[in-house]
Amino acid sequence: MIQEIDEIVGKYITAGEILARVRKETAKQVKVGASLLDVANFGEDMIRKEGGECAFPINISRNEEAAHSTPKNDDTEIFGEDMVKLDIGVHIDGYIADTAITVDLSGHNELVEAVEAGLNAAIEIIHGGINTTEIGNVINDTITEFGYKPVANLTGHGLAQYIQHVPPSIPNIPTDVGVELDVGQIIAIEPFATDGKGFVSEVGSAQIFSLLSNKPIRNSAARAVMKEIEQYRTLPFAKRWLKSKHVDFAMLQLEKNGNLSSYPVLKEEKGMLVSQAEHTLIVEEDGCRVTTK
Ligand code: MN
Ligand code: MN
Repeated sequence: MIQEIDEIVGKYITAGEILARVRKETAKQVKVGASLLDVANFGEDMIRKEGGECAFPINISRNEEAAHSTPKNDDTEIFGEDMVKLDIGVHIDGYIADTAITVDLSGHNELVEAVEAGLNAAIEIIHGGINTTEIGNVINDTITEFGYKPVANLTGHGLAQYIQHVPPSIPNIPTDVGVELDVGQIIAIEPFATDGKGFVSEVGSAQIFSLLSNKPIRNSAARAVMKEIEQYRTLPFAKRWLKSKHVDFAMLQLEKNGNLSSYPVLKEEKGMLVSQAEHTLIVEEDGCRVTTK
C-alpha cells in the first residue's frame, strides 16, 4: 500500500516536472504575429516528446477570454498585442499536473503581477488542515490590493486519476463556508484577476469536450467518433484532435444524444482583460509541495 502511494505520488511529480518545462518553452512561442495553432501544437507535441500525455487541450485564451479557448484544426488566427493565458495539463497514467501562465503582449503587466502574487500568497499559507476560506481570503486581499478583482465564479479544485476537477473547489474570493484540506491531497490553485466585473459567462460554441456517457448511438459517423474519443476516458479533448470523417456532424449527433460535455469559452465583458496563474500542489503537514514549479 505504502509502495503504491509512493508510486502514485511519483507520477504526479513527474507529470509536474514535464509540465514545468513545457510551460516555459511554450510561453516563449507566444509573440505578436505567431500562430495560435502553432503554439498549441508546439506545446502538445512537447508533452508527448517528454513522455507525458495531454491531460486536456492547451487552452489559449486572450484578453477578455478567461478560459476554454483552443484553436480549431484549420485555425488561422495570430497573436496581436494581447493578454494571453496558456493553461496546460499533463498526465501520467491519469495522474494530472495542471498549470497556467499569463504572457502579456498588451502592456498591462500589473494585472499579471497581481494574479501571480495572489497565487504565491495562497501557496505560502497552505498546509494540512487549512480551511479553503482562508485561501479565498488571501487571494482576494492580494489581488484587490493591486486595484483589480478576482474572478468570483472560477475556482481552484482537487485532482484525481483521469478526473481534472474533483471537490473541494477552492475559492478566489471570500466565502461563508469552506472545507479543510487533508495531508496528501492533490489540488490546483488558480486565481484569475481582471479589470472587469469579476464574473465570467459562457459565450459561443465549444472546441473542448469530454465524454459524458457511453449511451449507444445509431449513426455510424457518431459511432466512429465515439470509438476515437474513448482513449481520452473522462479527460477533456479538442475537436481538432479528431481524425474521424464527418467530425462536425458526428459531434452534433453525440451532443444531442447526451454523450458529451462541452466547455464553451468563458469571457469577461468585452474590452476588459483577464490574467491567470495556476499551480498544482500536494498538501503536506507543514506546507505544500508544488509539482509544477
Ligand atoms: Mn488549468
Ligand atoms: Mn485547473
